[in-house]
Amino acid sequence: MYWNREIETLDREALEQLQLKRLNCTLDRAAGAPFYRDRLGGNARHLRALAELSSLPFTTKAELRDAFPYGFLAAPLESIVRLHSSSGTTGNPTVIYHTREDIEAWQDLVARCMYMTGMRRNDVFQNMMGYGLFTGGLGFHYGAEKLGAMTIPIGPGTSKRQIWFLREFGTTVMHILPSYALRLSTHVREQGLDPRADFKLRMAYIGAEPHTEETRQKIQETWGITAFNSYGLSEMCGPGVAFECPQQNGMHIWEDQFLVEIVDPDTGAPLSDGECGELVLTSITRMGTPLLRYRTRDLTRILPGPCACGRTHRRIDRIRGRSDDMMIINGVNIFPLQIEQTLMRISGIGTNYLIEIHEDNYMDKLHVSVELAPDAFQGTLGQVEGLHGRVCAAIREETGVTPVVKLLEAGSLPAAEGKAVRVVDLRKQSGRGC
Ligand code: ADP
Ligand code: ZN
Repeated sequence: MYWNREIETLDREALEQLQLKRLNCTLDRAAGAPFYRDRLGGNARHLRALAELSSLPFTTKAELRDAFPYGFLAAPLESIVRLHSSSGTTGNPTVIYHTREDIEAWQDLVARCMYMTGMRRNDVFQNMMGYGLFTGGLGFHYGAEKLGAMTIPIGPGTSKRQIWFLREFGTTVMHILPSYALRLSTHVREQGLDPRADFKLRMAYIGAEPHTEETRQKIQETWGITAFNSYGLSEMCGPGVAFECPQQNGMHIWEDQFLVEIVDPDTGAPLSDGECGELVLTSITRMGTPLLRYRTRDLTRILPGPCACGRTHRRIDRIRGRSDDMMIINGVNIFPLQIEQTLMRISGIGTNYLIEIHEDNYMDKLHVSVELAPDAFQGTLGQVEGLHGRVCAAIREETGVTPVVKLLEAGSLPAAEGKAVRVVDLRKQSGRGC
């Protein structure tokens, strides 16, 4: 049941002692990076208690970007064996450097996550995430090999190929974007196959993009599998930072490797367990690019109380979005996931949707285009009209904004290659919305 029983069930006191020790070593290492040397001075002061963590300044994505290329490099360049770079689209990319120890620790962490969900050596693992600078592909790949499962490094190939490999090799576990998991099932049906009956799949790891509990349920039902939420970000290592256990109730964040804080996204003030805010992470084992109090911009909360699985590492709730993806529509704050959640609850509605914000005579207008479920067109026009009315009313009820809704035939919205693009802001004024 445990990949590393001692670490996963370490009592809180021992865990916190380990954290403090590792944090102080990290402060020494971080001072080797030009950015932190300037900020902390040559000799980083050791902390006497974890509570003193909040005396250190935050590190932001903008600082990471501005220090391109080597401002955050904390180890000699000759000890670096790999770099990863985030998919960020504006300005310099953010670059994270890995030593051999970093890579080994990361693959062990991913293996720990997989083992926790019940994956074993005799599983066949199909990795549909992009390989390359994005950490999702290689991160899971090395984790699965470390665990000892046969790994199919297919990457984001065409659906036809994915389905062929799933069938021919009897894939039992897949790693897939949640938006793609639903789309792939429609391709399976187009081939006359039943996603529940014609595959040996038993689990999916879904992550890399925000999704709702409703989407997870839909994936589980459609494929007849258990889907586990997987959270990570390249700044910490990549996937493996937090992962669901068999309880499927929050993701254990591995506190032997990362210090967790939740802060108010506007003021930076610490919030207590249970309160929703921005996740701030400190990596305490990384050699190449350790980061202190990194503002992830991801919104979540710590779930109070212990988990029934026996692990002592705290859990974070599923990510509700990023602090920077909130849409402000005529003064009303809306997160894209609120709309997804509403759509997924309506039967007859498919899995792919797109939100557009238009500007019309100085007023913002929320447009939601959503695909119908593949069989919805067999209904009468009256039924489709009824569905249209239900979608408008449900979104209005959830957000307080009256949307312009377009129902589309299944498969008609453009399919993203990587993470799904859900929001397009077409307003003239930049700097608003997302
Ligand atoms: P980028 O910031 O360019 O997308 P990354 O590949 O490092 O680069 O992506 C990390 C981000 O992806 C996280 O900060 C988070 O916003 C999102 N993410 C990762 N896993 C999840 C998940 N399980 N649920 C929601 N969002 C996720
Ligand atoms: Zn648990």
